[in-house]
Amino acid sequence: MLADLHAHTWFSDGTLSPRALLERAAARGLTHLAITDHDTTAAFESIEPDWIAGGLQLLRGVEISTLWERQEIHIVGIGIDCANATLQALLQDQQRLRRDRAAAMDMSLQKAGICGLMDYLATLPCTAVGRNHVAQFLLDRGIARSKEHAFKNFLGDKGKYAASARWCSIEEAVKAIRTAGGIAILAHPNRYRISNPALRRLVSEFAAAGGEGLEVSYSNLDADRLDHLASLCLANGLWASTGSDFHSPGSHWMDLGKFRLLPARCAERAIWLHPGWPGCARNEMRVTLSGA
Ligand code: AMP
Ligand code: MN
Ligand code: MN
Ligand code: MN
Repeated sequence: MLADLHAHTWFSDGTLSPRALLERAAARGLTHLAITDHDTTAAFESIEPDWIAGGLQLLRGVEISTLWERQEIHIVGIGIDCANATLQALLQDQQRLRRDRAAAMDMSLQKAGICGLMDYLATLPCTAVGRNHVAQFLLDRGIARSKEHAFKNFLGDKGKYAASARWCSIEEAVKAIRTAGGIAILAHPNRYRISNPALRRLVSEFAAAGGEGLEVSYSNLDADRLDHLASLCLANGLWASTGSDFHSPGSHWMDLGKFRLLPARCAERAIWLHPGWPGCARNEMRVTLSGA
């Protein structure tokens, strides 16, 4: 079992097509892959059943940006029905917020004499435009030295060209995921710049809103931190999830399947034992596509 339940394609801010991502997932020995693009499920519209090699199982997923106490918190949903109207209405709103935010960043860039962001964005295959794309634009223009530099100086909270978006609430995201038959998972809990008490509050409010999973193991997580997240997960009665948050082959430290195994004490709470786990009874993607 090697389940990578958090990965991006070029329909959001990943660099691979869905087909290339599926090939890489099979080559890296994954048993399960969830594609979880930011605020879009467009990747699933193009996938052909014969792109899914060998024993790989593909789960439908999404990663929704939310606002909680003025922090941007990401909620992953897996096993979702992409045709669900409630979920798609929410994702359409989120995509509009993303376009509006890009336009606001373009305005401040133009005021600084940097033109062409919107033309650049129009050349991309993405459905959900993000700050990663803007960072790449700044890199191509020689304005940023690296993606990290772009986020730190230009696009992060206090960045020169930053613009905010009024994302939906955690409750709305969880509700939409559940209405679409999915399992809601709090993504990369240690990547938020919040204190430990705030993190505990976040996890318990997420669980109270109907969230069911916590990412316990993901890229660049040391053993102590993983242990802490395992405790947080079990203390809140959540299911433990694993995922790389893969974006690009260039970021080899975040490659598909590259994360620690769940600790033994999470064995009974691994997310693939959840009664609603889509791979439990069948390979949902194959069934739906071959039956379509
Ligand atoms: P957005 O969803 O448009 O707000 O952008 C968030 C995305 O930007 C994350 O999913 C990451 O892919 C990327 N990101 C955020 N912070 C950084 C950073 N410091 N360096 C590189 N990429 C980042
Ligand atoms: Mn991203
Ligand atoms: Mn995220
Ligand atoms: Mn992600």
